[in-house]
Amino acid sequence: MKKVERVTIVGGGLSGLALGLRLRRLGVDCDVWEAQGYPRHRVCGEFLSGRGRQVLAEIGVLSQLEQEGAVLGRSVAFFSERGAAGRGELPEPALCVSRYRLDAVLAEALVAEGGVLRVGQRFVGAMNVPGVVRATGREPRTEDGGWRWLGLKAHALGAELSADLEMHFHPDAYVGLCGVEGGRVNVCGLFRSRTPLSDLRQTWRDRLRGTRGSPLWERLRNVEFDETSFSAVAALPLRPGRVAAPDEVRIGDGCGMIPPVTGNGMSIALESASLAAPRLLAWSRGEVPWESVRSAVHDDWERTFGRRLQWAGALQTAVMNPFVRRLWGILFPVMPGLWRAAYFRTR
Ligand SMILES: Cc1cc2nc3c(=O)[nH]c(=O)nc-3n(C[C@H](O)[C@H](O)[C@H](O)COP(=O)(O)OP(=O)(O)OC[C@H]3O[C@@H](n4cnc5c(N)ncnc54)[C@H](O)[C@@H]3O)c2cc1C
Repeated sequence: MKKVERVTIVGGGLSGLALGLRLRRLGVDCDVWEAQGYPRHRVCGEFLSGRGRQVLAEIGVLSQLEQEGAVLGRSVAFFSERGAAGRGELPEPALCVSRYRLDAVLAEALVAEGGVLRVGQRFVGAMNVPGVVRATGREPRTEDGGWRWLGLKAHALGAELSADLEMHFHPDAYVGLCGVEGGRVNVCGLFRSRTPLSDLRQTWRDRLRGTRGSPLWERLRNVEFDETSFSAVAALPLRPGRVAAPDEVRIGDGCGMIPPVTGNGMSIALESASLAAPRLLAWSRGEVPWESVRSAVHDDWERTFGRRLQWAGALQTAVMNPFVRRLWGILFPVMPGLWRAAYFRTR
């Protein structure tokens, strides 16, 4: 019988774990290296929209997540600092699930399928060699046009929402709220600053609550945060675009990060794993050389996500612009099709 080559996946986030699972189902042996561990809280809006839910169903973990209380998000409400700015039904249901459970469920499924998961082990070898896939997440960028981008998240207990997803837009920040399993509300914000923010350990609760008197502040003023769920991440690369790495096979954020306002990064991570799996299967069987896997994965990514990232970049710029935000408040009630168009362009 012909030897099947082993695949090494560096990074056990959504893209790496999903790829490992796909490969195991195709009969390919794989090792997934993860520098940290499971379960753990991660900075994420925890709002999975677009095709990602379908991928979770295909790799056999969706029903478990739903049984464990993952929430189907169907409605969305927008707010500015001053008040409500519109409300609607999502064009398709989204899955609201904590990264604490999602990553852990995928990790358990991978091991159950016979994948080797090297938890707490940082891969330090070369990643531009045959058989190695980079799924290491976004590349940090300290500054973008003079702005530093920072993500904060924590679970709130006892918060009441007016829609399954609430998006609150403030000057230099937006914060998303969605209910996840266990009756918790995930509060996740993206913030920008011209100077480094050094006092986060003390100020993260106030930053997540936003400007005093705003709808966001009203929503969160009396809630208790689960302190253990607090997480922060700095040096976010907010300008979309593909990372130039022609000598490596990359998936997920490692190829380029879609701005979080779209709630589509997790889907791209899962979808890109699905696209890469058959390419890697062909290589592992000796049917194609590694070079052709590299270029095929690159082309698949460009074709599937390139346009999505461009639209997302424009949307990200728009939501941080005070004039556009004001215009949005005026246009939303009379042109509900506008945000649906933005939704579909970024899926
Ligand atoms: C503020 C914010 C809010 C967001 N909100 C949403 C949202 O609501 N919806 C949505 O769909 N997306 C959202 N995203 C995006 C989403 O979190 C990412 O797109 C997704 O996690 C990407 O998955 P990934 O597998 O590519 O990378 P990651 O999930 O980052 O995984 C990479 C993994 O690689 C590991 N690693 C790195 N280097 C090594 C190494 N050398 N050896 C071993 N392990 C290594 C890391 O420890 C990490 O676990 C948000 C992102 C941010 C920053």
